[in-house]
Amino acid sequence: MPENARDLNFDRYHRQMLVGGIGASGQRRLAASTGIVVGCGALGCASTDLLARAGVGRIVLVDRDVVELTNLQRQCLFDERDVAEQSPKAHAAAARLAAINSQIVVEAVATDVTHRTIEPLMERFRPDVILDGTDNFQTRFLLNDAAIKRGVPLVYAGVLAGSGMQMTVRPGITPCLRCIFDGPPTTAVPTCDTAGVLGPAVAIAAANQAIEGIKLLAGLEDRLSGVLLQFDLLANTHRLLKVGSRRADCACCGRREFEFLAGKNADTAAVLCGRNAVQIWAAERGVDLEEMHRRLAPLGSFARSPVLVRGVLREARGEGGEPIELTVFADGRTLVRGTASIERARGLHARFVGG
Ligand SMILES: [Zn+2]
Repeated sequence: MPENARDLNFDRYHRQMLVGGIGASGQRRLAASTGIVVGCGALGCASTDLLARAGVGRIVLVDRDVVELTNLQRQCLFDERDVAEQSPKAHAAAARLAAINSQIVVEAVATDVTHRTIEPLMERFRPDVILDGTDNFQTRFLLNDAAIKRGVPLVYAGVLAGSGMQMTVRPGITPCLRCIFDGPPTTAVPTCDTAGVLGPAVAIAAANQAIEGIKLLAGLEDRLSGVLLQFDLLANTHRLLKVGSRRADCACCGRREFEFLAGKNADTAAVLCGRNAVQIWAAERGVDLEEMHRRLAPLGSFARSPVLVRGVLREARGEGGEPIELTVFADGRTLVRGTASIERARGLHARFVGG
């Protein structure tokens, strides 16, 4: 194909190619790239919207959930029809992105990303960058392991309430998530479903995530931020923290012990036969029942006993429309009643119990 004919296809990217030395060569690099986005919630929607419009040639969307009404406040690729149809998020987002940009390839995978599924996904799609759109630390550290093991950059972002963070991990060059945070919290932590989240906080974190992805894919590595961004829109703080250098004793990027890929810290989930219920063991995580009760009480009819917190969630339903009952035990075990789907139960657990 003649060079200029190829560039003609780039008309729609004209304003972007004028900026920061992207030009036709950067645009061609974007068009030849694959980005995988794990989690199509608020962050995944907002950052892939930007990547699709920017012309990233192949975008792979992975998510285990379906669209719900309370998603629409911040998850910008979905609408009320997706809620009515209970569309899988990965497919609803892919349809929207394909309508935005027909020049790119968008693939949807409705699955749970676990230590069993992550490596086959990486092998199948061979991404040039991984975008973190997850809602829990377990999956986030799993992505960190996969990124370091395969030498693929990971663009991390996270939001909660009015605050957010963003950091880019370049294997062998920058610290990884475990250099900075060591590992997931040892107790259950608040989530967007219990502590809430603001759309503008999502937009800021996702915009930073998307531009870091674009820099990596367009050959503008020298423009990467090199910092851990932390902001709080209600406290009006915006900090850029130096990430320092890699830790030689880091289990992941130092010793290359990929504990999360090995499933060492994985939650175990099992369907309870004949009971339309799934039991989830959150490994090595105890639960403060008083705190858990305080968090869940606004979300349904939750009561606390000395050994557990139990109640029915007001807004969630099982596959057949059944009410969802959560029973959280002090030892870290949770019983999700109203579904026989492990993926659905894991999703509900990550959202409401936290981890
Ligand atoms: Zn590390």
